[in-house]
Amino acid sequence: MCGIVGYKGKQQPKDFLLEGLKNLEYRGYDSSGIALKNDDEIQIIRSVGKISSLEEKVNNENLINCSMGIAHTRWATHGIPSEENAHPHRVGNVTLVHNGIIENASELKEELLKENVVFNSETDTEVACAIINKYYEGNAVEAINRAIKVLKGSYAFCIFFEDSDKLYAVRKDSPLIIGYGEEEVYVASDIAAIISYTNKYSLIEENEIVEIGDRVTVTLDGNVVNKEVLTATISADSKDKCGYEHYMLKEIMEEPLVLEKTLKPYIDNLDKLPDLTEYEEIHIVACGSAMYAGMIGKTLIEENTNLRVTVEVASEYRYKKVIYDRKTLVILISQSGETADTIAAMRKAKMAGIETLAIVNVVGSTIARESGNQLFIEAGPEIAVATTKAYMLQVAMLSLLAYKAALSSGLVNDSVMNEIKIVPRMVREILDRRDDYLEIAKSIYERDDIFFIGRKIDYAVSMEGSLKLKEVSYIHSEAYQAGELKHGTISLVDDGTPVISIITDKDIKEKTISNVQEVKARGAKCIIISNEEITGYDHLIQVPKMSDFFQPLVVVPCLQLIAYEVAKLRGCDIDKPKNLAKSVTVE
Ligand code: GLU
Repeated sequence: MCGIVGYKGKQQPKDFLLEGLKNLEYRGYDSSGIALKNDDEIQIIRSVGKISSLEEKVNNENLINCSMGIAHTRWATHGIPSEENAHPHRVGNVTLVHNGIIENASELKEELLKENVVFNSETDTEVACAIINKYYEGNAVEAINRAIKVLKGSYAFCIFFEDSDKLYAVRKDSPLIIGYGEEEVYVASDIAAIISYTNKYSLIEENEIVEIGDRVTVTLDGNVVNKEVLTATISADSKDKCGYEHYMLKEIMEEPLVLEKTLKPYIDNLDKLPDLTEYEEIHIVACGSAMYAGMIGKTLIEENTNLRVTVEVASEYRYKKVIYDRKTLVILISQSGETADTIAAMRKAKMAGIETLAIVNVVGSTIARESGNQLFIEAGPEIAVATTKAYMLQVAMLSLLAYKAALSSGLVNDSVMNEIKIVPRMVREILDRRDDYLEIAKSIYERDDIFFIGRKIDYAVSMEGSLKLKEVSYIHSEAYQAGELKHGTISLVDDGTPVISIITDKDIKEKTISNVQEVKARGAKCIIISNEEITGYDHLIQVPKMSDFFQPLVVVPCLQLIAYEVAKLRGCDIDKPKNLAKSVTVE
C-alpha cells in the first residue's frame, strides 16, 4: 500500500524521487524515505510524517553524486511508523523499498535469526530484503526469482544491489509500472507519480522481473517478455487543485462533468450494458464506499426486478463459504482496481467458474484485466483519499444496470431514460447550494456523535454519508435503518444530538417521519434531506424529485459536502485523513 518510485538515468534522481512521492501522497502514508546509489556509496535518508519533512532532511544533507535511486511512502503494517521501520531497508548487498505484506515474514525471520542475520526494524520488508540478500551470489535476477518463490503475500519491490549499477523491480498483488523517458527509466506504483515526466509506460505483470540497465529487460521465470508500451491519457494538470482549497472539494465539484462522461455512452444505448436478468443471483462484492454503492445497487435491483442480490464485504467473501448453486454473476466494485480483498474475491468466483463483472475506474488495473467483463467509470484520477466522484459514478453505473434489468423484466417503461440526461444538471444545482451545507455543518461540527437514518434506498445512501463524515471529520457517526434505532441505539440520542434523516422513498416516507419524531422527542437536532417539503425540523435540504433509479444521485453530493464542511470547520487534514490510504492493496 502507499507508494514507491525508482529512477535510473543520467540525472541526479533527488528531484524526481521527491516529486514522485508527493504525487503518491494522496494514497496515504505515515513515513517515507529515499536511497541513492553510485559506484562507491549508498545513502539512505528516512523520516516520519509528511513528505515535506523528508524533503527538508534531504535538502539539508550532502547528497552523493549519482543517477539511480529509490523512494517510498509507507503505510505501516508491521511495526509502528518510525525512522527505523521506514523504507528503504538495507541488508548486506540489497537495498529495497516495498509495498505490500509478506505474510510468512515471522517464520522466515526465525530461520534468518538462526543464521545470525541482524535486523534493525520490525518490518516484514526487512525480512524480504534479507531473503533476497541470502540468495544473492552475483546474479540479481536469479536471487529475486528464488526469493519470490519463498515469499508469501503481496509485494511491489524496487531494488538495487551494492555491487551492480542496475535497478530491479518485481510485483505480486501490488501495482507497479515502468515509465520511459529520454535516456531514463522510472519505476512507480502508478502513473500519477511520473506523468509530468512521461506518458509512456508498461504494466508489470505478476512476478515479471524488470532489470533496468542501459536497456530494460523483463523476464518471467527466465524467459524474456516483450512489454507493450502504453500511452497514458491522464494529463499532468489533472493533479492540480484548480483553485479549490482541497482535492476533495474539487472532486465533488467535478461530479456533473464525470457523470456526463460516464453516462453518455449508455444514453439511448443500453445494449452496451450486461443484462442482469440473465442470471438467477447477483453477488456484489466490494470494500468501503464501493460496498455502500453496492448497497444502493442491491436495493434498486431488488425493488425493480425479481432478482436476488447479496452485497458482501470482500474481506469476508474471500474466506467465507459461498454457495454457487444458481446461475450467478459476481459484480466487483473497486475504484483503483487494485483492492487486495476484492481481487481475491474475484479470483475465488473465477475459480468456481462463476462469471464476473467489474465496475472500475483504472483501465489496466488488476481487476480490470482479470475480470470477465468490465464497466469503466470515467472519474479520472481521484486524489483525495476519501472517495467522492468515483463512488458517485459507481452508484450511477449500478443505477443503469438496475434500470436495464428492470426494463428487461418488463417492470418499468423506457420513459425514465430521458431523466438520465438531466442528472448532471440536477447534481450541479445541488452542488451550488454550498451555503446550506455550511450552515448545517456549523450547527453540528462540535458534536461527538452524529446519526444518519433512512429506510430502504435512503438507508443505503445514508451509510456512505456516515462513512464520509467519519473518514474526513473524525466524528463518530452511524447509519441506521430508521425503524431500528429504537431497538437500542436511541439510548445515545439526547439534547442536540444531530440526526440526519434521508427521506426520498415515497412509499415509506410517513414511517420514516415517525422515526424522526421519535428522535426529536428526545431532543435530537433534526436535519432532513428530502425530495419533498417536510417542515417542522431544524434544517431541510430539498432535492429534486427523480425516478427511483436516479434519486440517490442528487442526495449523495449533499452528504459529501456536509462531511467536507464539517471536516473543514474542525481543521482536519481533509485530503489525507489519518490512518487511511487510498488504494488498499493489502489485506
Ligand atoms: N509491510 C510493509 C511495512 O509495514 C510495507 C507497508 C507499505 O506498503 O507501505 O513496512
